[in-house]
Amino acid sequence: MSDDENRLGDMPDDEFRRYGYQLVDWIADYFAHIDTFPVISQVEPGWLKENLPTSAPEEGEDFADVIADVDKLILPAVTHWNHPNFHGLFSTSTSAVGVFGEMLAAAFDMKAMLWRTSPASTELEEVTLDWLRQMVGLPGEFEGMIYDTASVSTMHAIAAARERAGLKVRDLGMSGRDDLPLMRVYCSEHVHSSIDKSVITLGLGLRSLRKIACNERFEMIPERLAAAIEEDIAAGYVPICVIPTIGTTSSTSIDPVDAIADLCEKYGIWLHVDAAYAGPTAIIPEMRHLFKGWERADSIVMNPHKWLFTPFDLSILYCRDLDQLKQAFSLVAEYLKTTEEVRNGMDYGIQLGRRFRALKLWFVMRYFGREGLIERLREHIRLANLFASWVEQSSDWEMMAPVPFALVCFRAAPVGVADLDALNERLMTSINGSGEAYLSHTKLNGKFTLRLSVGSIRVEDRHIEKVWRLLNEHLEGSR
Ligand code: PLP
Repeated sequence: MSDDENRLGDMPDDEFRRYGYQLVDWIADYFAHIDTFPVISQVEPGWLKENLPTSAPEEGEDFADVIADVDKLILPAVTHWNHPNFHGLFSTSTSAVGVFGEMLAAAFDMKAMLWRTSPASTELEEVTLDWLRQMVGLPGEFEGMIYDTASVSTMHAIAAARERAGLKVRDLGMSGRDDLPLMRVYCSEHVHSSIDKSVITLGLGLRSLRKIACNERFEMIPERLAAAIEEDIAAGYVPICVIPTIGTTSSTSIDPVDAIADLCEKYGIWLHVDAAYAGPTAIIPEMRHLFKGWERADSIVMNPHKWLFTPFDLSILYCRDLDQLKQAFSLVAEYLKTTEEVRNGMDYGIQLGRRFRALKLWFVMRYFGREGLIERLREHIRLANLFASWVEQSSDWEMMAPVPFALVCFRAAPVGVADLDALNERLMTSINGSGEAYLSHTKLNGKFTLRLSVGSIRVEDRHIEKVWRLLNEHLEGSR
């Protein structure tokens, strides 16, 4: 803190400008040289804690010292999600304009609970989500709400589904009731764990979640779903929601949403589509066919913070009838009553205050435009398929799943190695440990499978070539 006469109030303007410019330079350099850092932080657990004081400073410090500590203490403990060789989990990355969006949103610091407290956030959210709706080709009745993560978006969707089922859970709750049958939520065995967590959080319990078997392409088998629903209805249970995924986490497989929508229609069940990862690729005309049937959903989740160059966090829940979400969640305390006939964000979820997240998405959409976004997503899909073609052509490696989007599931399978699971785990651990690239794994058909996800805004051919070289070098070293 500077020593001038006014010791109250915020950082003085001139200091803010000086450090602000310095930090923007810092970020520009970081992005420019990001591939010189080890992808995964090389520190041991506890390293940062050991290097930080155990209590906060008594007197304010010079901010220059704080920035210096970012270099000295924070950077070594950063795993660089924006690194073009971050291929684990789902490779995501922010854009520079996304960073600007976060910066301005922090400066406004509005809590978008009521339209009155935050007209810009409320209306920009409506407009940007409608732009995106048009881009991905969803019908006009879909309206969106922004939440932090897909986990939370999906939890809201299931809560709305439960309310629509007419069991009066909002008012009567679930405990101490004899009249409440077991409710069922259906998804495939490859569903993301956020669905399991949602049913836990909503008090439905894990036994309410029925996981339906998949075919050899890891897609939910609709006949099995139909049989499960019939069986549950016969047992007196109430099916409330089916959750197919377009782009599952393990392998990016695609559940047959259209066939599942037929069943939801027949039995009057809420259809929630998890397109958290793959959703943004519906912008690309030649990818649209992979989304067949999602326009029949009651709700859809997609995450611009995964694959649309928007900094974490920003997840969108599109609902065919947003009022159903409102019926599940709206509760207006006296001190929040206003007279305007407007949309108030607080009515659509558990949060009262909501961050101004739409701003960063608006920046991204305006800066890149639809064409720019399409070109970038297409490039990731091209690079993933290029990598897959190398795997296919090599006798030492094999593909483990199709590549509909930009995730390659593969493994080393050289002749003469008995324990391929152990070999592949060793390869992944040694590459990740080197800091040169980051891969993650899954199990497909019980086999340890490497996953290479391509999704960084900074990724180029040379990064993919590097991973291929590393894999082959490490495989050679293991012989
Ligand atoms: N759904 C799918 C298909 C995912 O792959 C993920 C995360 O990878 C999620 C949901 C959860 O996303 P979030 O971290 O936004 O909660």
